Amino acid sequence: MTVAVVLFTSDLRLHDHPPLRAALAAADEVVPLFVRDPAVHAAGFDVPNRAAFLADCLTDLDAGLRRRGGRLVVRSGPVVREVCSVVAECHAAEVHLAAGVTRFAHRREELLRKALGERGVALRVHDAVVTAVPPGAVVPANGDHYAVFTPYLRRWSAERLREVCPAPRGVRVPEVVRGEAPASRAEVSGVSPGLPAGGESAGRERFARWARSGLSGYADRQDDLAGDATSRLSPYLHFGALSAVEVVRRARGAGGPGAEAFVRQLCWRDFHHQVLAARPESSVRDYRTRGDHWRTEEDAARDIEAWRAGRTGYPMVDAAMRQLREEGWMHNRARLLAASFLTKTLYADWRIGARHFLVWLVDGDIVSNQLNWQWVAGTGTDTRPHRVLNPVVQGKRFDPEGAYVRRWVPELRAVESPLVHEPWRLPERERDGLGYPSPLIDLGEGLARFRRARDRD
Ligand code: FAD
Repeated sequence: MTVAVVLFTSDLRLHDHPPLRAALAAADEVVPLFVRDPAVHAAGFDVPNRAAFLADCLTDLDAGLRRRGGRLVVRSGPVVREVCSVVAECHAAEVHLAAGVTRFAHRREELLRKALGERGVALRVHDAVVTAVPPGAVVPANGDHYAVFTPYLRRWSAERLREVCPAPRGVRVPEVVRGEAPASRAEVSGVSPGLPAGGESAGRERFARWARSGLSGYADRQDDLAGDATSRLSPYLHFGALSAVEVVRRARGAGGPGAEAFVRQLCWRDFHHQVLAARPESSVRDYRTRGDHWRTEEDAARDIEAWRAGRTGYPMVDAAMRQLREEGWMHNRARLLAASFLTKTLYADWRIGARHFLVWLVDGDIVSNQLNWQWVAGTGTDTRPHRVLNPVVQGKRFDPEGAYVRRWVPELRAVESPLVHEPWRLPERERDGLGYPSPLIDLGEGLARFRRARDRD
């Protein structure tokens, strides 16, 4: 009887799962393994929203495996130690794993390769499980990655995606390997009230609904903040409950401008993965140093706290920051604006904002979060690094009726448009009764400080 282990990481699904498929083809029995590694806890990654979503994903994965005659084996402990002990318990000949791009994933792969190699067990690492196109598959003539999106998009679009593989019909798990029950969402406290259900089943359902009724209008409506017309698939993609290859293929199959615009966004995800794969240190350090002397937590404590709490006095920024806490998610346009406000108007270090987003975002992802923050801060891959978004102009453009602001900032519910985006212009008596803060900073002053800092270089 031959046995293989599949180590699930950011690929918590059964459909379109090349490592599982390869393991099933190679062995009579397979151990589908998930390890709760205390290193992830120590790095502060198991925050409530993602812990709850992860619990849903693991419960759903276990249920899917049980319907196929198997089960998920969950262990707690350092990942290499746990994989090695499972391998020893069932005498596995190989371990299958999806390739990752973060420093943590590289280190895990390196340590596993060494430890398994010493035991004569093969580690098989699979590409195109987390992303649609593997990082490094398309590179420019004179470099190891694309630093500009548009030429990457051109090459990425021409790339042939691998075939989608079906979910397995049956999985036989060796009796001898025991594990813990996957935790339940009910055990996690401090979860945002509007957090969606996690897991492959919920993700596939949402994708099917979105493909039927949202996709075709996406090109026209993606920036309509109040209309909430994006897919909200990001957490499912982050946990790998949905496969990027399958989503891209199915969207392309639907065709039309909506699908084209949606696939372009998915390309951003791959773009950032290939940047981080080539420059792993850019999760913490400036990708492009501009010689910034950012304001720190100590320099700007009051401003940063107001930003985190959604009390800057700029309705669009505050709506965005409150949506983040309420739903564990934020619309992309709102993310751009909130990040621009922190890094440019308040001139605070992008890492402060990125850390706060990672505490709350259910899709919080080292790759997409850190590199989007850098993109906005002007230290990343944006070809216009000095642009500053004005929250009033953005509000009038992307929330013309003020419905997004009213949804998340109850103090402003009674204010008519367009003053809902500039409540400081209301008559004093009316303004005083709102209980809403005055602007934290004059936008012109913020802009001048940012320009002075930039011109210093
Ligand atoms: P849709 O508009 O429906 O797009 C479809 C998918 O494309 C998304 O689910 C996502 O996987 C991908 N995508 C879209 N835009 C981007 C982008 N700019 N970069 C990378 N992938 C993208 N996305 C995350 O998944 N995790 C994060 O931690 C994260 N942090 C961000 C921080 C900032 C400051 C900014 C500006 C953006 C961040 N994004 C992040 C990207 C983007 O905002 C979200 O992916 C998107 O809002 C998710 O909503 P959706 O699924 O409805 O997206």
